[in-house]
Amino acid sequence: MSSISLHNISKVFPDGTRAVQEISLEINKGEFLVLVGPSGCGKSTLLRLIAGLDELTSGSIKIGGKDAASLLPKDRDLALVFQNYALFPNLSVYDNLAFGLKARKVPKAIIKEKIIPVSQRLGLAELLQRKPDELSGGQRQRVALGRLLVRNPSIHLLDEPLSNLDANLRTSMRHELAQLHNEYQKTTLFVTHDQVEAMTLGQRLCVMNQGHIIQVGTPTEIYDFPEYRFVAEFFGSPPINLLKGKIESFQNNSSFTNGSIKIPLPMDSDLAEGEIELGIRPEDWIINSEASSQSVPVTLQRIENLGDSRILHFMDQENTIRAKSELREFQVGKPYFLTPQWNRVHWFDIQTEKRVLR
Ligand code: ATP
Repeated sequence: MSSISLHNISKVFPDGTRAVQEISLEINKGEFLVLVGPSGCGKSTLLRLIAGLDELTSGSIKIGGKDAASLLPKDRDLALVFQNYALFPNLSVYDNLAFGLKARKVPKAIIKEKIIPVSQRLGLAELLQRKPDELSGGQRQRVALGRLLVRNPSIHLLDEPLSNLDANLRTSMRHELAQLHNEYQKTTLFVTHDQVEAMTLGQRLCVMNQGHIIQVGTPTEIYDFPEYRFVAEFFGSPPINLLKGKIESFQNNSSFTNGSIKIPLPMDSDLAEGEIELGIRPEDWIINSEASSQSVPVTLQRIENLGDSRILHFMDQENTIRAKSELREFQVGKPYFLTPQWNRVHWFDIQTEKRVLR
């Protein structure tokens, strides 16, 4: 059974903003699903609708098989962690952790029984008497998570919980969150606009744009088979190369042309003649110093050294092309020849921006 079921839900704010538009989605019990997309695409609104903090304009939500319309927010068996943690500044860590249970009139002794193991698990045991302003960002973030774990609801809703942390802490908290999910196996909806967070945490990703779901899939499906140009561009660093051009055929041989570039396609290509956009991820070029029948001649303009790999900025007569390589022998100013790894390229329709299946 789905833990959360969204059926054709929309949210239009009074000023006419269509924040969420006709979204349907099933979230499985125990699943870690990441809602990801650019700022303003409706991720937080979707989470707030599930939590019952905003009212639906249309559609319906089921939580644990029950129509959410019949459930008050407090009866939805879920908890939400916000980006700013929303801790009570005047309460100690202990009282912050206890707050949700106290509000539910849970006896003091039981509250203590629940807080002790969670505070130990999260490394907060020594900090229970401190106030939030006496904690580091990472510790505050742990208190917010601890508050959720102490209540132990079936559904965890996390709205950009790592975005206030510095890069190192984000990485370690990411790991921590994945481990917590492994241990507790709660249905988790995690909102982020960060592609790395999405790819590394999500069992499935739900990619949103302008209030719509664009694609739902595992990180591998999303990265290797983006259904839209938008998804291909959103994931990957440095970003995918997108070249607008056309397929031309001559005596049973097809090639892709774009101004200065003309690349013969493999013999088994069945792409129709006409305009198209070719997407090639930087790591999907074969880079040679000798020409071949399928290569694009380019000059190396700039190298960005990432330590374990190099981002290479090439130029042909018109286009800048990004490539990525773990090799170290490249020289700025030298000519090179790029050949696509054809089994890894992406084709998109110029009008609909939808993937053209090969
Ligand atoms: P971010 O990553 O920046 O937090 P988001 O994807 O979570 O963005 P939402 O906060 O859900 O996006 O907002 C979706 C759209 O709805 C935006 O255009 C936003 O300006 C608008 N919006 C959000 N809340 C309201 C509101 N109370 N009244 C009117 N418009 C709103």
